[in-house]
Parts: sequence; C-alpha cells; structure tokens
Amino acid sequence: MAQLVLHPGKERSLFRRHPWIFAGSVDRLDGRARPGDTVTVVTAEGKALARAAWSPSSQIRARVWSFDAEAAIDHAFFKRAVAASVARRAAIPALRGQEGVRLIHGESDGLPGVIADRYGDVVVLQLTSAGADKWREAIVAGLVQATGCAAVYERSDSEVRGLEGLESRTGCAHGELPAGGLTIVENGVRMEVDVEGGHKTGFYLDQRDNRLLTGQLAGGRAVLNCFCYTGGFSLQALAGGAASVLSIDSSGPALESARRNLALNPRLDASRAEWQEADVFKALRALKDEGRKFDLIVLDPPKFAPSAAHAERAARAYKDINLFGFRLLNPGGILMSYSCSGGIGQELFQKIVAGAAIDAGVDARILYRLSAAPDHPIGLAVPEGEYLKGLACQVG
Ligand code: SAH
Repeated sequence: MAQLVLHPGKERSLFRRHPWIFAGSVDRLDGRARPGDTVTVVTAEGKALARAAWSPSSQIRARVWSFDAEAAIDHAFFKRAVAASVARRAAIPALRGQEGVRLIHGESDGLPGVIADRYGDVVVLQLTSAGADKWREAIVAGLVQATGCAAVYERSDSEVRGLEGLESRTGCAHGELPAGGLTIVENGVRMEVDVEGGHKTGFYLDQRDNRLLTGQLAGGRAVLNCFCYTGGFSLQALAGGAASVLSIDSSGPALESARRNLALNPRLDASRAEWQEADVFKALRALKDEGRKFDLIVLDPPKFAPSAAHAERAARAYKDINLFGFRLLNPGGILMSYSCSGGIGQELFQKIVAGAAIDAGVDARILYRLSAAPDHPIGLAVPEGEYLKGLACQVG
C-alpha cells in the first residue's frame, strides 16, 4: 500500500482526530495510488498514523477512514460503518416514527464523502469524494442490509465532485423508485420528496425540528416564510394554526411543489396560504413599502457563503434580509433566522442579526438557539464544513 508522508509537524491535526489532510501538509506519496485508493498516512519520521482515501486532484489530498493504521479498509469495514451510522439514528428518541431521516452524515459518521438520507422505503445516496466513490458497491450493500430498504437511489451530482475529478452519477443503485412519486409524513404533514430533481437528496431534513418549532409558535399569527422551497415551514405553520402564511421563493417549480404539498394535506386551511414567486430581497422591500406586518417571520436562505472567501458579501446579504425581517415584525413578533454557510461562523452570524435589530430600531431578545436536527451531527473533531445554525429572536 502506498504511503502518504507528511511534512514534519503536520500530524498534529490527526492527533486531534481531524480526518482531512490538506495538500500543504503532504511531503510526498511513496508508491503508487489511484484516486480513491487507500493509503497509509505516516509522519515525516515514518510513524504510521491512519488509513485514508487518496484524492490527488483535491486540496483535501486525503480523508481518513480509520485512525488505526493497521485497519483493513474493505467491504466489511464499510458494512460495519454503515450499520453503525444507521444504529446511531435508531437510538435517537426524536427520530422514532420519522419517515425522513439522515442515516449517514459524512465525516460526522466517520465516512467522509458519504451522505445517505432515508425517505420511507427509499434511501438516497450522495457520494462526493474519490474514496467514497470507490467503495460505492460496499456502501450500497451496507445500506440495503442495515435498512431493508426497497431502493437506493444515487444522487451523486453535487458540484464538489468536480474538485475530486469525478463525473456526476444519478440513478437507482438498488431496486426501483416507487411509481407515482415519493412522499413522507414529517410531524403530521405529508410532503412530496423529489429524489431525482429536488435540491440535495430531495428535501432539507436538517430543518425538521425547526419546522416543528415554527408550527408550535405559529398559532394565531400572521406568518411570512422567505425562501420557502417546497413549503415545509409554511405547512407546519398552517398545521399549527397560523392566521395566514405568505410564502416567497424565486423558484416556480419549488412553489408548484409547495402547492401540491398543501393539496396533499386536506385538513390544512388552504385559504390562509398565499404563495409568491419573487426575489426575497426585492419582496421584503415591497412588503415594507406596502406597510405589511407579520407576527412570525422565517428566513431560511440558501448558502450565501460556501467558504470563508465569500464571507464579506454574504454578511451583507444576511444583514439585509434580517434588517427587513425585523422591520416587518409587529410588537411581540418573532424572527427565525438561519444560515447554512460554512463561511459564516456562529459568532459572526449572531453579530449580524444583532446589528440588524439595532439598525431596524427594535429591542430583540433571543428566544431559541436553533440547530440542525440530531441526525445531522457536527463532527466532534470537524467544526468546519456544512452546518446549520439559527436564532429565533422576539422583538419587544
Ligand atoms: N426552508 C426550506 C429550504 C430553503 S432552500 C425548507 O425547509 O425546505 C432555499 C430556497 O431559496 C430555494 O428554494 C431557492 O429557490 C430559494 N432562493 C434562492 N435565492 C432566492 C432569492 N434571492 N429569492 C427568493 N428565493 C430564493
């Protein structure tokens, strides 16, 4: 097996169990390895530290599979790792009875480059690194064995595959998708999941608990849901007895799906729902000009800052929507504001929201700190990468 030799001192992050080895830490590769092959990571002094997947075309040159430098990285390894991930979810009380659950969350589950989401009988798999791609068959077999699912659908079409020199791949890796589409019930609300064409693997499971909280806060309130996608927050708000829900998204197909979702839930009062296809930045200004006010506003925008390089522009965008969010609230109103930008840390995000409240001239207090659902753990040793955070603030 080839050996990846680190520069002197570059083993420190591995001692903290951080699974990434950046290009700048690598002195050389002794021996031959193709993309995705397993290599042994050794210090400059020749001490073996870990087994990792080789990604020659990525800035993250290798991702650790095991900190046991003797571990066999084979089919059995992936079957065990997949089964352990699935078992971790089975042990989380809040996930019992949920039809949509993230089963594997990359580095957090010791499986860098592997995402797997279960929607009822279907598991959607996304592989984003050369190493993960190489072990596709073992991972699919492990998922089938651990879940008994009828189908594994692959959505390996994320842009980051390009950085790894991988083509995109989509389609069934096991079984077939159910004819007539897929739906899940999330906290009492039925939602369609477009695993073939939807964002990510088809649905934003990470926001499950926050959607539920929105429903619990929505009773009797006039709700504004910005960046509504397929209406997840909107429908929970209606289920929670919202007086009205205005939902805005710039995507026509997302809004069509949202309307279908509302129709899938006949017990919800559709006359209280209004859908608007618009750019949120413009729509918020228009609502202000019209003198509209709301009692509960959700801001769940797409990733404005994928990395630290975009942080400054992204910060201005977050500031803008939060400022208008606060301006549009009635006294006692609540702003639920999120960021899924890896490039904007929690502290900076809180500063942006605090600054927006000051500029809007409101006295805002934190009601809740909002995190991703528990099936999306943040890796203990991997604080960066994709995570979600938010604040619910109430104004005086
Ligand atoms: N809250 C949703 C997920 C939001 S995803 C849920 O719980 O499922 C982000 C959404 O923002 C996408 O639907 C995308 O179409 C929309 N979007 C991106 N930029 C936008 C803009 N400038 N104005 C309005 N919508 C936008």
